Amino acid sequence: MNCSHDNCKAYALKGNDPPFCFLHHPDKREAITAMRIKGGKNSRRASIPLPQTLQDVERTLAEITRAVLEGRISAKASEVCLRCCEALIRIREDQELANRISAIEEKK
Ligand SMILES: [Zn+2]
Repeated sequence: MNCSHDNCKAYALKGNDPPFCFLHHPDKREAITAMRIKGGKNSRRASIPLPQTLQDVERTLAEITRAVLEGRISAKASEVCLRCCEALIRIREDQELANRISAIEEKK
């Protein structure tokens, strides 16, 4: 028996009247929506936290490593991420240095 939904040629689930396939069964709609949401989450590209502070960099580097090992991002993409992290570290260090210098100058 086939699904009674318009133009649907899928096999209907057993014991339904009118017959509906899994996708068109009213009782299955919630399950399908949940599956779609879950699928969407899984198929989303590797989410790597963007570092805001030097402390974040450590976590980001760990995530990049994990993502490369799990094949979620390419080695090339990881290189870009690493370069960004390095740049952030340099900027933060420069800022820290500038803060220290201005603190010293204020004491004078
Ligand atoms: Zn159907």
